[in-house]
Amino acid sequence: MHVANHQGTALITGASSGIGAVYADRLAARGYDLILVARDRARLESFAHRLEDRHQVRVEVQVVDLTITQALDDLAERLLGDTTISLLVNNAGVAMQGSLAESDPAALLHMLALNVTAPTRLAQAAAANFAAAGQGVIINLGSVVALAPGLFNVAYTATKGYMLSLSEALQAELAPAGVRVQAVLPGVTRTDIWERSGGGLDQLPAHMVMEVEAMVDAALRGFDLGETVTLPSLPDAEDWSRLLEARAALGPNLSRDQVAPRYRP
Ligand code: NAP
Repeated sequence: MHVANHQGTALITGASSGIGAVYADRLAARGYDLILVARDRARLESFAHRLEDRHQVRVEVQVVDLTITQALDDLAERLLGDTTISLLVNNAGVAMQGSLAESDPAALLHMLALNVTAPTRLAQAAAANFAAAGQGVIINLGSVVALAPGLFNVAYTATKGYMLSLSEALQAELAPAGVRVQAVLPGVTRTDIWERSGGGLDQLPAHMVMEVEAMVDAALRGFDLGETVTLPSLPDAEDWSRLLEARAALGPNLSRDQVAPRYRP
């Protein structure tokens, strides 16, 4: 039986496995109805039934390949026009292994479509919907690789840097409208993404690998604490604050009418 909830509906991309599936479970537990987005209908539907039974919320399944422009547009239009939707989790993503030079061009463009184009289009629709409502939440899945260039696949790293940049800039834009944006930057998290991208967790030291439930619970705790950027495994939040302070110190000198002395002839 459906119990009336006061949280509205959360739309979660990539909700059929890994991080997105745990978000679905935790947000349902918090009283959100759900729209689960991914490509595998059977997997989504059986998960939706389990969530409905467990949490007494409404769960809708949207079978969408987010790399297909028309399908993405249709979902974005739904997100724009549905005032019951109050939270977007931009989570669907793929990874790649290997060097940029050796990567398959089709796989590369597919990753950019899923990791960059789709979340941007959905964030645009959510921003318009939520700003008009004066409330709402956008959660974007980045990665710690955004802070560690050279550690992992180049293009994947860049897509996750994009998600961090998108989130911080969008938070600045939407805060006055009462909308919150959070970037979640997981480290290595035990999900299918590793096998799917042709990598493996086995060769990584165990102390680097977080369980997916712990990661998402920490990210939601970071959200509750009001964070714009959440690094689930960073012990000292001051380390992040110091990075922000150092970046802010560049501010007065980022755009001037004079070139810096070292560049003068
Ligand atoms: P995952 O277990 O592989 O899940 C990916 C999800 O995205 C699945 O639900 C998948 O479902 C969906 N998906 C894939 N291609 C899609 C498409 N074209 N259209 C729609 N949905 C699609 O991966 P995960 O580890 O949970 O990753 C979730 C996010 O966290 C990603 O953005 C990833 O970059 C990020 N992240 C992960 C880690 C990590 O170590 N796991 C670390 C940092 C950041 P279908 O196949 O049914 O479509």
